[in-house]
Amino acid sequence: MAKKNLIDPVPFRNVFNKLTIEDFNLKGKRVFIRADFNVPLDDNLMVTDDRRIRSTLPTINYAIDEGGKIILCSHLGRPRGNREPRLSLAPVAKRLQRLLNKEVIFAPDCVGHQVETLVSKMKEGDVILLENLRFNPGEEENNLEFSRALASLADFYINDAFGTAHRAHASIVGVPKFVPAAAGFLLKKEIEYLRGAIDNPVRPFVAILGGAKVSGKINVLENLVGKVDKVLIGGGMAYTFIKAMGYEVGNSIVEEDMLYTAQRIRRKLKEMGIKFYLPVDCVIAQSVEIGAETKIIPTLEIPKGWSALDIGPATVKLFSEAIQDAKTILWNGPMGVFEIDAFSRGTFAIAHAISDAYALTIVGGGDTDLAVHRAGVSDAISFISTGGGAALQLLEGKELPGIAVLANRED
Ligand code: AMP
Repeated sequence: MAKKNLIDPVPFRNVFNKLTIEDFNLKGKRVFIRADFNVPLDDNLMVTDDRRIRSTLPTINYAIDEGGKIILCSHLGRPRGNREPRLSLAPVAKRLQRLLNKEVIFAPDCVGHQVETLVSKMKEGDVILLENLRFNPGEEENNLEFSRALASLADFYINDAFGTAHRAHASIVGVPKFVPAAAGFLLKKEIEYLRGAIDNPVRPFVAILGGAKVSGKINVLENLVGKVDKVLIGGGMAYTFIKAMGYEVGNSIVEEDMLYTAQRIRRKLKEMGIKFYLPVDCVIAQSVEIGAETKIIPTLEIPKGWSALDIGPATVKLFSEAIQDAKTILWNGPMGVFEIDAFSRGTFAIAHAISDAYALTIVGGGDTDLAVHRAGVSDAISFISTGGGAALQLLEGKELPGIAVLANRED
């Protein structure tokens, strides 16, 4: 394993044309960092997965080393403007303190007199974490006064919350209206990989798409036409394509209203000479349950009453061979219902095939991120995005509001 960044993404070093944290002199300044600490907590309010916290450490440590006074903020869950004790960021403050190996002061709110007093007492290198931004309705409403109140705590604003950069919320698009704003290292890296690698890939460029629905990935597919050399489709979305070609798929998940679109995209890819692969065999069951009877059969022979819930071994072989000569691989969406062991083999086998490839490998966030970790190959992937919805929007070729609002380098 351990071959991360085998192919260095030098071609997209200049993709990110926004100001970054390195453009400011942080010494003695209040550096307000919007992070994405939306991490899972267990019943005892312990952080069960701290990858999102870890991914912002380079930005926080840089600000500490430069002598800034660091004010961190984030949302957690969906309290919808109410103070919900179970969604307090207090457990994140504790974990962060351990990861930084220094004191993290936890503020009881994100704005107001108490917070202002805490901030006014800060010394260089101090770190404060504000309470959940979404306890205040102004955050999701993108309220101007709330943005102004947050901005009053800051000399500089740094956005390192890639997972939330597609939301036009106060801490994402409001605060930068009032203070000089730039990107943190995580935000920059996400754009470099998800935009740079896709717009200017080292070829051959192979995209592997999966997950439940065509509708969720259709805009990504449209954007990839003309950029990729091969498209491999697995997961539930494959069966809409197969049905659109006129075949029966039993009870497999199908979006009837996407049949025409699926056929159109397939034709378009074919016309452009882009190779298009669908599963040739699949694991089927009569119910999506642990312990359900399973069979492996050719895709075109799915019987009535059965659903295709994973790709089969012949498809794993086909897909693995298709990515063998790839120099760039993008993967978004599991190949099957990988949450259940009996339908997880295809997803894990593809995770291994990708990690073995001599290529720049990029994994879109969300479920796929979880799959590569469960497969135990995350260390051998060049880049794993921390954003689900935000990553998809970038792959769709859209600009994210949180990035659009940052000043361009040449400005
Ligand atoms: P998405 O959010 O669209 O990437 O979808 C992820 C979900 O797709 C996962 O929870 C999988 O369980 C589900 N999924 C993958 N393959 C299938 C399939 N063949 N049938 C039903 N659901 C699937």
